[in-house]
Amino acid sequence: MKLYEKTAFELSQMLKNKKCSAVELLGDVNERINNVEDKVGAYVTLNESAKSQAEAVDKAIADGREIHPLAGIPIGIKDNISTKGLRTTCSSKMLENYVPPFNATVAQKVADAGMVITGKMNMDEFAMGSSTETSYMHLTHNPHDTDCVPGGSSGGSAAAVAAGEAIVTLGSDTGGSIRQPAALCGVVGLKPTYGSVSRYGLVAFASSLDQIGPMGKSVKDVAMMQSLISGHDAMDATSKDIAYPDLLANLTDSAKGLKIGVPKEYFGEGIDDEEKQSVYNAIKLLEANGASIKEISLPSTEYAINTYYIIASAEASSNLARFDGVKYGYRAKDYDGLTDMYEKTRSEGFGDEVKRRIMLGTFVLSSGFYDAYYKKAKLVQRKISQEFSEAFSECDIIATPTVPSRAFKIGENIGDPLKMYYSDVCTVTVNIAGLPAVSMPCGKSSYKNMPLGMQFIADKFKEQTLLNAANAYENLVGGFDVISKAL
Ligand code: GLN
Repeated sequence: MKLYEKTAFELSQMLKNKKCSAVELLGDVNERINNVEDKVGAYVTLNESAKSQAEAVDKAIADGREIHPLAGIPIGIKDNISTKGLRTTCSSKMLENYVPPFNATVAQKVADAGMVITGKMNMDEFAMGSSTETSYMHLTHNPHDTDCVPGGSSGGSAAAVAAGEAIVTLGSDTGGSIRQPAALCGVVGLKPTYGSVSRYGLVAFASSLDQIGPMGKSVKDVAMMQSLISGHDAMDATSKDIAYPDLLANLTDSAKGLKIGVPKEYFGEGIDDEEKQSVYNAIKLLEANGASIKEISLPSTEYAINTYYIIASAEASSNLARFDGVKYGYRAKDYDGLTDMYEKTRSEGFGDEVKRRIMLGTFVLSSGFYDAYYKKAKLVQRKISQEFSEAFSECDIIATPTVPSRAFKIGENIGDPLKMYYSDVCTVTVNIAGLPAVSMPCGKSSYKNMPLGMQFIADKFKEQTLLNAANAYENLVGGFDVISKAL
């Protein structure tokens, strides 16, 4: 087995026991990148200082210094997370040449732990999209079938894990952007509780919904990563100051006594039969091993997509006002005065989907329509949160499909925004309510063995409960087979 096929957890043990070096591990991942990146297109930028980061870890080990368990593990970072000295484009023409002068808090934590940053991952422009097709840079292909999308917006991050081009990655999730691509690429992806991971240095899309989270080959890997990146941060006013558990140390693997809620609204029309069936099978397996199952109802789910696109676009229209050609990023070449400079810069610098969101957001916030759209969406948001709270009084976790169907073909939905928005139907409620959720592989499609994904949702700050349940499932199926054999 090649090193790139192993989990971060396994590699961490190997590094500690000197079964491999950080430089060797990076070399193996780099060779894989050389072999498959042409077909996948997961990266926007490769990090030229990765080698020296790996050498520093090997030196620390040779000197007998204490190292972090994740030291030496190659990690790819989504290109909307600021990395000091390393280009951070948000896959937009607007920031094509932007090099941040500072690290996002999560990037600093990754660096302080001695992780080796392989590069920056492709994404939908400013994290708006579900297929990575809105990237200004290039397409990313699903490693299991390169005619298909990897999902989005963190498509590069998910594809890299499935292709073996990074051991773990970071993504961001505003309405599903970690979980949906994780499901379509067959990897594990965690969207943490709002407020548990600092957003300082994450280029804002919808500030009240955005969270950074990890992707990897196993529940253990995302548990290790989440414990590294979570924690209070004075630089983010929405970051919650509580004690965060060591998720790996407290990880259990039994389904016994687990109470699973199954909301009927997530298994209705619009969700493919094979997706539903694979989730039902997974739930039955957990039940056969000691979990109890309860059918529940979350009636406001039908309003979730509308609510999400109103709130997210409203916030985006405000957040993206900063890209005006003055402070940073792209500026139009020819213009006639300040207003013309703003107009041309924004017209030329943003792609169609970003413009669509800015227009929609500006509209729902405008004085004549604010009450009818934005205010109403905020009321529905409260209703959705209450329904989840009630559900968690009778179950530990909620199990649903992550996505309505397996990965779709490149080009299939890009001309139909509403169809594209529908791919978030199972994930947006979690962001609306600020909850943690994890997606994991739960079967294969009859079409080319493409991955299908299952989502577990838990109550706020219950990442341990959430990952314990996911780990129980992973153990029952004998681990996830993540690396694509189709490349
Ligand atoms: N696909 C959703 C959107 O386009 C979610 C994006 C995200 O989570 N960043 O808004």
